[in-house]
Amino acid sequence: LNRQDILDALTAPDARPLFRSAVQARRDALGDVVQVRAILELSSHCRSNCLYCGLRRDNTKLERYRLPPEDALETARRASAAGFGTVILQSGEDVREALGHIGHLVKAIRDSTPMSVTLSVGEWPREALATWRMLGADRYLLKFETSHDDIYRRLRPGRRLEDRLGYLRDLRALGYQVGSGNLVGLPGQTLGDVADDLLLMQDLDLDTWVIGPFRPHPDTPLADVRSLPVDRVKDARTQVLSLDLLDVVLRCVSISRLLSPRAHIPGTTALGALAPEGRLRALKVGANVLMQDVTPAAFRARYDIYPGRLVGDGDAWERFGAAARVAEEAGMTVQECPRAVEPRGTP
Ligand code: SAH
Ligand code: SF4
Repeated sequence: LNRQDILDALTAPDARPLFRSAVQARRDALGDVVQVRAILELSSHCRSNCLYCGLRRDNTKLERYRLPPEDALETARRASAAGFGTVILQSGEDVREALGHIGHLVKAIRDSTPMSVTLSVGEWPREALATWRMLGADRYLLKFETSHDDIYRRLRPGRRLEDRLGYLRDLRALGYQVGSGNLVGLPGQTLGDVADDLLLMQDLDLDTWVIGPFRPHPDTPLADVRSLPVDRVKDARTQVLSLDLLDVVLRCVSISRLLSPRAHIPGTTALGALAPEGRLRALKVGANVLMQDVTPAAFRARYDIYPGRLVGDGDAWERFGAAARVAEEAGMTVQECPRAVEPRGTP
């Protein structure tokens, strides 16, 4: 698919043929199997100030937390006992966590469970990335967020797209499996920009493609995104903000599947926040991964990246069961993973 093919797929009056061929492509490449991954949110402290994110440094309304390391390990072990095959350790860019605890936690999880460990903790020096890899981290998730230079610069103060892409190259060179992706529905973003994002994901030859809808957060400068001046309207009809965001994201999922049939493509939690059936629909158009938040309930609600997160309650067992039901509803089966021995004190 070239850029024009992608634009055609994004704008075709009837998306059903696209959805059907994506499901067929997934079936041929991977079968109708869903991987369920646990997300554990280590810290809501962040030195960065991304305009879109509720954890941004300047959000003084947020009550911040750091998950005590023993709780993080215990939760990861429960997730493994519940059936999760991967834990994603996610965090704001918290200097104390990054330079202190992350490496120990990665090693402790690898030593006591059969899970793979994915890190999603932002931009750190190559030495830190290398150390974590050496201690057992398998994958790294670092979204480039947007392939459009101006939008990137505007939304991530002090950061540069070319540096982000440099980190992705470093991660690959260090032997990580790399996940990345974009936000869809950013102010000023057009369908052409989204097509460029998908082409960049193809270029990066990613293990995991993450396409997430942007959800405006009330305590950020993008709270009322529709009232912002659109300063680069070439063609109002191609402004993503003026379109049905769920539809655009689902089309992106299908196009991603066609561009990379064997890739891991999640129905993101943000898609679940956008529409109650968002993740189910993603599976029905070509996705093959679900991510479930297993952060202990006392902290989960405070990891307030965007509103309407599927915080829910319940522990890892219930979270795994909930994901399995979504998979079943999509007519798919959940991938069997070796389980860790149940930690002491669990029912
Ligand atoms: N600090 C790390 C990881 C945590 S943020 C990092 O930035 O890479 C994880 C992801 O949350 C980001 O990549 C971003 O795509 C997403 N995110 C942040 N704010 C969001 C919002 N308002 N709506 C949807 N997704 C958002
Ligand atoms: Fe920090 Fe990540 Fe949020 Fe940016 S997106 S403010 S780096 S947590």
